[in-house]
Amino acid sequence: MTDASSAATFRAGCARGELLYQRCAACGAVQLHTRQRCGHCHAASLDWLASRRRGIVYSHTTVQRAPSAAFRTRVPYVIALVDVDEGFRLMLNVVDCAPAAVAIGAPVRIEMRDGLDGAPWPHAVLDVARGD
Ligand SMILES: [Zn+2]
Repeated sequence: MTDASSAATFRAGCARGELLYQRCAACGAVQLHTRQRCGHCHAASLDWLASRRRGIVYSHTTVQRAPSAAFRTRVPYVIALVDVDEGFRLMLNVVDCAPAAVAIGAPVRIEMRDGLDGAPWPHAVLDVARGD
């Protein structure tokens, strides 16, 4: 489970434009869901690192029907599972493109945009410079 202080560290990174993750000093495992211990070996020696914020779309879906009133102005929107270069997978909204433009294997950059609460949060943008 993510503890409150790790969540605060992650959100502070987002406010600086950084996507933070943790790497275990004992076994080298990486984890995005930041915790006080390694999810693989349970060591408490975790380093915070800033991702280069690049990844590849592993899978995606287009949401056509808003799940709540807060999303009504956002449909249709794309949710993707993104394999980030540093070795973890992240679920992100893909923004700034038509939903049909998103494809499995497409390269993305991860940028901070305002989330539903108005605070910076990671979003994916198609990286056309790295695409075919
Ligand atoms: Zn570990």
